[in-house]
Amino acid sequence: MSAAETTFVGGVLVPLLYLLSAVLFIFGIKGLTKVRTARRGNLLAAGAMLLAILATLVDLGTIDYRWILAGLAVGGLVGAVVALRVEMTAMPEMVALFNGSGGGASVLVAISVLWLQMIEEPEAPGATAAVALGPDSAVSAVLGILIGGVTFSGSLVAFLKLRDKTKIAGKRLSQPILLPGRHLVNLVLVLGALAVGGWFAFATASEAAIGAGAVVVALAALVLGVMLVLPIGGADMPVVISLLNSYSGLAASATGFVLNNNLLIISGALVGASGLILTQIMCVAMNRTLANVLFGGFGIQDEAAPAGGAADEYGTVRSYSAEEAAMVLESAEKVVVVPGYGLAVAQAQHVVRELADLLESRGCRVLYGIHPVAGRMPGHMNVLLAEADVPYEQLQEMERINPEFKETDVVLVVGANDVVNPAAENVPGSPIAGMPVLKVWEAGTTIVIKRSLSPGFAGIKNSLFENENNIMVFGDAKQVLQELVAELKQAAA
Ligand code: NAP
Repeated sequence: MSAAETTFVGGVLVPLLYLLSAVLFIFGIKGLTKVRTARRGNLLAAGAMLLAILATLVDLGTIDYRWILAGLAVGGLVGAVVALRVEMTAMPEMVALFNGSGGGASVLVAISVLWLQMIEEPEAPGATAAVALGPDSAVSAVLGILIGGVTFSGSLVAFLKLRDKTKIAGKRLSQPILLPGRHLVNLVLVLGALAVGGWFAFATASEAAIGAGAVVVALAALVLGVMLVLPIGGADMPVVISLLNSYSGLAASATGFVLNNNLLIISGALVGASGLILTQIMCVAMNRTLANVLFGGFGIQDEAAPAGGAADEYGTVRSYSAEEAAMVLESAEKVVVVPGYGLAVAQAQHVVRELADLLESRGCRVLYGIHPVAGRMPGHMNVLLAEADVPYEQLQEMERINPEFKETDVVLVVGANDVVNPAAENVPGSPIAGMPVLKVWEAGTTIVIKRSLSPGFAGIKNSLFENENNIMVFGDAKQVLQELVAELKQAAA
């Protein structure tokens, strides 16, 4: 490549491609804010990523592409297989793994850049290999390793907590695990890692010492990630996933400074900021502060005396057949459907739409009440209902639908539990105390479709099921809804 070409490619073309890619990322994220434009937003962001990779390859010039192609092939294959096979309900676990991979990649890049700087340092003949990193490289490298390491190990623990198949000393890992002295240990780990960073910045050390320092920071970060996520559990997990997502962006941004790559700095900052905004929105939705989520040990229950009663102890519960429940629906003029995790498990989104269409054809007004953390990931219910072409205007957020319940004849709760649990308001010791919920009990009648009286994600009793104006229709959500549809059709014929 001639000098003029080098200047044009490195000085004009690559920065322009990076700028275009950054703009596409921003429009991509903007598209994701609405269900209608989400698919296009996703495609734009994927295109931006492809452009970024191509620009980086052009910038690198003539290199050995074999490793890069091998990485692309393996990563692309794993990503495609996982994305094609993942169940919608297991999406948060996949997001946790992807966040962790991003954090792990940042650690590896930061360490390898440190390594390269060390071996590129010219050695005077006979001198011992001593390296001064300087504040800029040291701060960004240490932050990249620290935040990336926390993201990696924290995301793995979050993944195991969400899968809920692991036990430690007979205790479910999904529950908060509060180790004694954890705050002190965390403080020592953070201060230790920062001290190594300070030493990197201002001392001239041997290559071996810097290498050892980087490994110490990485190990401290890995332990810190585990320590930070272990005490969190129950309904706080979505907040943690979102926060780890933000961390993975910050780690990438720090790595961008290490590599001197503007696009990585911008895209990492976008992920970091959007993850933080989502975290904040979720905290507000649960009426909790971030500090309370991170240090509160939420979800812990005294098993001897659970707040609000044992999860499986119920007084009188009225159970109706689908035929009887259909008769209640027939006379309703306003129905609000509240979908939850069970709707996703049963894949009942299409049949719920069919039922709503039938009710509307009878002159009934139908709305959907969407709780921000219904299901197992942010926006879970919106995605499912959009898949069934439920008109977006009918989806009402919690703040908008709550005042409407008083004027609602029937609320149809489909596979939801925690998000309609009055314990959040009237049982002070409950693990979900203070979390804003859908006040479905204010409606004329509630019909709850679920398979049994088993608890939801938070593992607690729901006194809604005992209310006098509540009807349980036990069964798989899809099957019960199909029966309701059949009954309404029969009544109309
Ligand atoms: P939930 O409290 O977990 O309750 C779901 C209910 O669905 C269960 O009680 C279950 O009862 C029922 N169910 C399961 N399969 C079913 C099927 N095939 N048919 C009918 N019912 C079925 O769900 P939620 O009310 O949606 O609340 C979400 C919870 O998850 C919250 O605690 C939230 O904090 C947490 N969470 C949310 C996210 C997020 O980002 N949205 C992420 C992680 C955790 P049966 O077994 O009796 O059928």
